[in-house]
Amino acid sequence: MYHSLVDSLPINVIRKSLRGQLTFANRTYCELIGRPLNELVGLTDYDLFPAQLAEKYVRDDEHVAATGDVFHDIEKNVTDGKARYFEVYKVPVYGGDSRIAETQAIFWDVTERVETREALARERDLLQTLMDSLPDLVYVKDRESRFVMGNRAQLRVANVERPELFERTTAHDYFPEEIADGYVAEDREVMRTGEPMLDREEHWIDREGRPRWYLSSKVPLRDRDGSTLGIVGIDREITNRKLMEEELRRSNRELDQFVSVVTHDLQAPLRVVASYGKLLGDSLSTSENAEVADYLAEMRSGLARMQRLIDSLRSYARLTEKQQPKRPTDLNLVVQQALANLEVVIREHQASVTVVESLPTVWGDGVQLMQLFQNLVANAVKYCRDRQPVVTIDCLERGDEWQVSIADNGIGIAADRIPDIFRIFQRLHEDEREFEGTGIGLAVCKRIVDRHQGRIWVESVVGQGSIVHFMLPKNPVGEDVGVDQK
Ligand code: ADP
Repeated sequence: MYHSLVDSLPINVIRKSLRGQLTFANRTYCELIGRPLNELVGLTDYDLFPAQLAEKYVRDDEHVAATGDVFHDIEKNVTDGKARYFEVYKVPVYGGDSRIAETQAIFWDVTERVETREALARERDLLQTLMDSLPDLVYVKDRESRFVMGNRAQLRVANVERPELFERTTAHDYFPEEIADGYVAEDREVMRTGEPMLDREEHWIDREGRPRWYLSSKVPLRDRDGSTLGIVGIDREITNRKLMEEELRRSNRELDQFVSVVTHDLQAPLRVVASYGKLLGDSLSTSENAEVADYLAEMRSGLARMQRLIDSLRSYARLTEKQQPKRPTDLNLVVQQALANLEVVIREHQASVTVVESLPTVWGDGVQLMQLFQNLVANAVKYCRDRQPVVTIDCLERGDEWQVSIADNGIGIAADRIPDIFRIFQRLHEDEREFEGTGIGLAVCKRIVDRHQGRIWVESVVGQGSIVHFMLPKNPVGEDVGVDQK
């Protein structure tokens, strides 16, 4: 029974005498070695294997024979430069006198298993190295929102020294309850819907009391059958960017306050010069002093221009002071108001202004958006020369943005000058008598569009007309940049 059983086993079974000679080998072993049993009986490991291997086999046999212990090992056997692995059990075989008479070894090829395990380990190491070299926090959570693993950056932020100490912890181990509850709710939502959560801004105060900001993304983790195992999360720190934005806001605020004070203080001496200029003019008899009267007229027009420049600079700087919180704003009403304010100018130029599409409702500051339209339509009407101005306001939906366009049939702008016109005091027509202005209108427009996280640009053909386009995001994120937050 023993022999028929052992011979039919797909694993190798051999027995050796205490002197190390084979006394039995099953069929599988004979096939492995490639020799029949009768040729094998009596041979030792030295007859069958290289000396180094044979020595190890003999040593293990002797250990079993001496102690009666079961020996277990995964052995590596390199033949013809190719490594094979065998799982080996060696046990003592007792004789009739209850003493150890032989040793029996059973072993089988586990090369595939070992190679698969090594390949997996290599892949895991590669993945780990990759994740650990990322500055972003990367983690995996199971379905109960317990951490399964985290990369080095994640462990550092969590202040956990070893990966094992991170496993099975939850957000509640690192954050106050209501914040942690929020994170767990996010995890559940991602797992429930299968929809990733991308770049959500998260803010918290770290252990040292410093504010930190992260862009947090979570994606569902699924197995091959599609069932949800948990989530993979990536948090990218944006604290420096946030602090820089804050600094930018602060210095913009200071600059605006400075300009506001300076323009205010300049008014008084300007008024003094203007009023004495007037007194001087009044006390002269113009018929006798025609030349002096001319000088005075020049002086007065210079003063008036200076007054206009200071006023517009002041209005530019006070944009932030006067701004309103953003709220849903119907652009149809905004444009109506802007056109009502421009009624006189439009009539004087006999301009036709049409709004082609019904305009959307956007997230914005109504007063500033009104100023934006007012400045753009005013320019469109103004820069027309002899032609009757035809102005068209249009709006297109472009993905998650609205693109508003204001087109005119005016004098146009040379392509190489287009970048200049959004800068403060930049005018393409130095002669104020032709087109009145101070060169601040478009700078104000740019500032307003920036505050609404949009873009503004111009397309133009000289002599045919210009189109000013601006984009407004449908769902602006975060705070205002570049201007004061009230
Ligand atoms: P201002 O109109 O007070 O000069 P803006 O900042 O509004 O100041 O415009 C800057 C310059 O850009 C203008 O002086 C003008 O040369 C040019 N510009 C603006 N809008 C138009 C337009 N629709 N067509 C032609 N040129 C324009």
